[in-house]
Amino acid sequence: MPTHFRGSRGAAAPVAIIGAGLGGLSAAIHLRLAGRDVRVYEANAAPGGRASRITQEGYTFDTGPSLLNYPWVFERLFAAAGRDMADYVTLTPVDPSVAFRWPDGTALQLSSDYPRLLEAFSRLEPGCGPGLAAFFQDARAKYDLSFDKLVTRNADSPWAWLGALRLREAAKLSLWRTLYGELGRFFHSRHIREALGSYGMYLGGSPFDLPGIFSILAYGELAHGLWLPKGGVYGLVEGMTQLARELGVDFVFGERVQGIAVKDGAVAGVRRADGTLDPWPVVVSNVDTPTTDTVLVEDAAFRAAGAERAEKLRMTPSVLTFYWGVEGGPGALGHHTIFLPNDYRGAFEDLFHGDGPPRGLPFYASVASETDPDLAPRGCHGMFVLVPLPVLPAMGNGEPACPVEVIRETVLERLAAEGAPIEPSRIATETVWTPRDWRDRFGLYRGSAFGAAHTLFQMGPWRTPNHARALPGLYYVGAGTTPGTGMPMTVLSGMMTAERVVSHAC
Ligand SMILES: Cc1cc2nc3c(=O)[nH]c(=O)nc-3n(C[C@H](O)[C@H](O)[C@H](O)COP(=O)(O)OP(=O)(O)OC[C@H]3O[C@@H](n4cnc5c(N)ncnc54)[C@H](O)[C@@H]3O)c2cc1C
Repeated sequence: MPTHFRGSRGAAAPVAIIGAGLGGLSAAIHLRLAGRDVRVYEANAAPGGRASRITQEGYTFDTGPSLLNYPWVFERLFAAAGRDMADYVTLTPVDPSVAFRWPDGTALQLSSDYPRLLEAFSRLEPGCGPGLAAFFQDARAKYDLSFDKLVTRNADSPWAWLGALRLREAAKLSLWRTLYGELGRFFHSRHIREALGSYGMYLGGSPFDLPGIFSILAYGELAHGLWLPKGGVYGLVEGMTQLARELGVDFVFGERVQGIAVKDGAVAGVRRADGTLDPWPVVVSNVDTPTTDTVLVEDAAFRAAGAERAEKLRMTPSVLTFYWGVEGGPGALGHHTIFLPNDYRGAFEDLFHGDGPPRGLPFYASVASETDPDLAPRGCHGMFVLVPLPVLPAMGNGEPACPVEVIRETVLERLAAEGAPIEPSRIATETVWTPRDWRDRFGLYRGSAFGAAHTLFQMGPWRTPNHARALPGLYYVGAGTTPGTGMPMTVLSGMMTAERVVSHAC
């Protein structure tokens, strides 16, 4: 990049973004819309980060996210640029949405169709109609309050954050009740509570210790539906990248940035893989926040402080993921199925406090080709299996006890027991990513799949903010900063970081 940018941190200062994950792409779009020159440096050959794509022998797999919800977030991103998202991404509804299975033979099928949902819930809890209606009413209020007043605000102090709410509104959020307890206000069935509470895994906590406000996750999915972009979730990445290019964002792929240079106590630029320095007055890092702080910033004191903060962070779990090209049908499996264990509480305990696969081996299986047949050769199916595992002990250390073969066999046994036998001879292609692969490919701290957890004191103003207070010119975007993890949140994060950069210009 031209050197005349050096030292200019003012109103029109250009911006370097490290990483083309969803947060990086969103920040790039918003910063271009704010009139900034933007260059994105991405380590891999293509954008997407965790939301990348694997193609093998006619099969197309999304590497990570597969459950796309809150479509309005993405629509607003395109609308901010004066575009209609439908011209870039075709969304297909996935309904019925997620199915849950338990080893005791219980099954629950979620749907955004209310009468259908009520029927499914009533099979597990006869007479639950008033409870379900009350749940929807209560969670809708929480959802609206959260998105109107909390989630998308750059608030630096708890007072500024919660101060946006009236006392009565704050009480509604159930911040001090557990998620499992909150669900218990509406449902008696342990199966319903376990299903709706299982989203806690993505947030990095068990429903027995996450705050009750997270009932909005299940609600959001039920109320706003689940969607699949044409071509898989990666279709969304492609649409966002196209929009960014049209707006004039400059991309450099295959460039694993070595460092964020610091001079006179402020950001000085981006150190490229070959050691050369591209001067930039403003750098937005889409690399996981603890990795940015402990590995990228070229300042010993900043890194030491970052290491201290990182050590205290509670992270979401890591994952082992299988991508199988399966000849023939997926048996009794729909698009999304979550296989829960008998000992639900114990499995969460193992996930966050153990050092090996959680007991009962819960896992999630996605057969996206059930919704979009073009994702697999004719008569075949692409299956993605996600097994949550504890995070790696620390950056640089080895695997947790993660015997891939044993896990594969356990998954196949459970699938067979649940009416979806996948004989190994039918698995025509296989790719496996271990926690270490996730860490090394995308710079994920401790191999944590979803970033910092969403415990009460890692939310809102307590979460890593989207600007480095001790290093002018450094900003963060993505799952590790505000508002948090998941595709919609990281896209919102791009908007919030761009707002922050612009608000700091003088
Ligand atoms: C297995 C899995 C399943 C998931 N399922 C869902 C789901 O169903 N629904 C949902 O909403 N969310 C899901 N998520 C979460 C979602 O994928 C993430 O929250 C989101 O994609 C993170 O985006 P991000 O902006 O933080 O960037 P990331 O995806 O982390 O991207 C960061 C980018 O920075 C690049 N990078 C790193 N280091 C460097 C460097 N030194 N130089 C240059 N570039 C660098 C990386 O290559 C990467 O492209 C899932 C995540 C995983 C891992």
